[in-house]
Amino acid sequence: MDHFLYRDGRLMAEDVDLAHVAACVGTPFYCYSSATLTRHFQLFTEALTGMDHLVCFAMKSCSNLAVLKLLGDLGAGMDVVSLGEYARARAAGIPPDRIVFSGVGKTRHEMSETLKAGIRQFNVESEPELAALSQVASGLGLTAPIALRVNPDVDARTHDKIATGRRQDKFGVPIDRAEEIYARASALPGIEVVGIDVHIGSQLTSLEPFEEAYGKVARLTRALRAQGHDIRRLDLGGGLGIPYTRGNDAPPLPSDYGALIRRTVGDLGCEIEIEPGRLIAGNAGILVSRVVYLKREAGHRWLIVDAGMNDLIRPAMYGAHHDIVPLHEPEPGVATEDVDVVGPVCESGDTFARARAMPPLEDGDLIAIRSAGAYGAVMASEYNSRPLVPEVLVKDDHFAVIRPRPSIDEMLARDRVPEWL
Ligand SMILES: *Cc1c(COP(=O)(O)O)cnc(C)c1O
Repeated sequence: MDHFLYRDGRLMAEDVDLAHVAACVGTPFYCYSSATLTRHFQLFTEALTGMDHLVCFAMKSCSNLAVLKLLGDLGAGMDVVSLGEYARARAAGIPPDRIVFSGVGKTRHEMSETLKAGIRQFNVESEPELAALSQVASGLGLTAPIALRVNPDVDARTHDKIATGRRQDKFGVPIDRAEEIYARASALPGIEVVGIDVHIGSQLTSLEPFEEAYGKVARLTRALRAQGHDIRRLDLGGGLGIPYTRGNDAPPLPSDYGALIRRTVGDLGCEIEIEPGRLIAGNAGILVSRVVYLKREAGHRWLIVDAGMNDLIRPAMYGAHHDIVPLHEPEPGVATEDVDVVGPVCESGDTFARARAMPPLEDGDLIAIRSAGAYGAVMASEYNSRPLVPEVLVKDDHFAVIRPRPSIDEMLARDRVPEWL
């Protein structure tokens, strides 16, 4: 559930009228709901109650400092994938001992900076990375706590671009080679084995792939312990899917996911880490946009809006569905028209929805593209020289701009023309 509901015919974010925000901030803009972020985070902590755990928000999904601070104040840790994300987490007040570092391409510079600060854990994804980390850590006279990311060869049955746990995916080391690599790791200077890491993909709509993967992790934990490794943490990744269509699809609940964790790895006495991103942020954010034109041609209708694929790339990149609703609640039973909802960018892929049944809309009307809180603003670009859209955070009856819209002059001022031109 989320807090974007109609009240007296107007779409609200909690107790804030979104049309009012549009009048203050201009369109397009992202809007996040504090209450929804809080609730989604708490669903995970409740699901793991009774188990020693840390919920590390996968901040690549939504990394505005205000969002990170809100979650950090609730006790969240962070899953980071770059030094930039690490710096954001720190700037938002998250202590290093609640930050885990994932990703296949950590550089030596990223390793040394985060190691010196006392980061909680590196999720190591390959043997060359392990060797580099050992060199960096021993060079600094420090010890790097590691979990090896294992690839369990499980098909997450999700979109091809966000499945990460199959043999052919670039992530982690094959689980059947893990014992050999752990033996090597524990002999390396500057390395301390603390756990196992797994993440099989994103937007999973069934629990079965998790069950299969976590079962394999439990077996590996027992085998590694028998070989003398002190496996005390299990990082089970993120990936739980969200409903992108209201009322239709019902992905598994965090409580069922928690029960699955208990069932598969709960008896091992390990501290459990999870890294949800999408489920916390996805339905906690919307993208508000204004209709520029309704274009009709030979029986085809295009609703041209002022947000584009550069602002929200998920439909173009993944063929993703997003519900789109007007800010003015349509009269019950009003006749709908099938329209293509498109942006202004010069690409045919700049299409948010095809043949979508929409109530009558005119130039100047406001719409909300729902479920845009995760992998939305963070993936935005300035393609077509469109300044990044602002982000707004709502709490109860007030809102704040948590990232202003850059002016066109500010955008241009970043470029440098060499003297010799
Ligand atoms: C992307 C990612 C996540 C978060 O996935 P969600 O589907 O957003 O929950 C967690 N862990 C790792 C390693 C990731 O790459």
